[in-house]
Amino acid sequence: MSETFLQQVMEESGQPINLCYQCRKCSAGCPMVEEFDFPPNMVMRMVQLGQRDELLRSKAIWMCISCETCGARCPNEIKIAPVMDCLRAACLAEGVVPADPVTVALHTSFTESIKTFGRVHEATMLMKYKLRSKNLTSDLDVGLKLFLKGKIPLLPKKTKNVRKVKEIFQAAGR
Ligand code: SF4
Ligand code: SF4
Repeated sequence: MSETFLQQVMEESGQPINLCYQCRKCSAGCPMVEEFDFPPNMVMRMVQLGQRDELLRSKAIWMCISCETCGARCPNEIKIAPVMDCLRAACLAEGVVPADPVTVALHTSFTESIKTFGRVHEATMLMKYKLRSKNLTSDLDVGLKLFLKGKIPLLPKKTKNVRKVKEIFQAAGR
């Protein structure tokens, strides 16, 4: 069972997770490690051991900002960002209650905006994020200032080839 999960994540992420020998260079350089419940090296170990449920319920998978620092430091060239991406996708696909629903609300609203317009449309993204997170009133002053400066356009502008963007999502199974 654990081998199946390891193989599945390795295939989906394209990363040689089986080579991880717990040197912890990834965790030593990760700028977000203090926000993680499991540091990056432990996430790798948990994938190796097939601890799927714990990983899908973890905060770590939502706190990774895909900065790629871990990949640059890893002696085995393991990039953890694509691994985290696979785990996030599995969490959403299986309807697992996430450890950090507010981050998930932002993530989902952001990717929906990219899928729809080919780029972020801040006004609709923020509206959806506020509704999902049930946090309607925070940062209204900042939002108003940005709006008045023309930084949050009301009408979305699609990229020239939205279809291509949708195809990329489809190819990635998202
Ligand atoms: S890609 Fe994610 S896990 Fe790797 S260093 Fe950046 S935040 Fe940490
Ligand atoms: S740096 Fe690479 S080998 Fe070392 S613990 Fe992190 S993922 Fe594993």
